[in-house]
Amino acid sequence: MKLLLDAMCGGVRAYLRVCGHDAAYALDRGVEADDAIAALARDEDRVVVTRDRDLAGATESVLLREREPVDQLRELAAAGVPLEPTDELERCGRCNGVLDRVDETGATPAYAPDPGDERVWRCRDCGQCFWKGGHHERMVETLAAVCENETADGT
Ligand SMILES: [Zn+2]
Repeated sequence: MKLLLDAMCGGVRAYLRVCGHDAAYALDRGVEADDAIAALARDEDRVVVTRDRDLAGATESVLLREREPVDQLRELAAAGVPLEPTDELERCGRCNGVLDRVDETGATPAYAPDPGDERVWRCRDCGQCFWKGGHHERMVETLAAVCENETADGT
């Protein structure tokens, strides 16, 4: 899904990107005012994720009540946003740019594993490298727990 998260909902952006969503963050895009957010969402055909009732009323949106990212993920799941981690990483957790797989013989920065040993992806926009390390695993576990609860609730 193409989403636009407002300043109150930025904590879920990395989770949504792990699920392959094109999840732009208003503060990264330099917009903060309600009408600027609504205009950007319309221009780019994005669904706004917000805790602001007025903003939610002004554009296609998912209105959240919770403050904590994990609780917000539960609300997003309940609203029908799919929260399935993708096998191939698709979106940059830092800037939402598109990721490309680094070739097995390609070079990676010192902080990243050797792409001959592990799958590594690089962001087209900011150059950050990603792989399925501990940080990724913890996000996947959190998402699985959220979706399990969702099923248990009978929704
Ligand atoms: Zn990036």
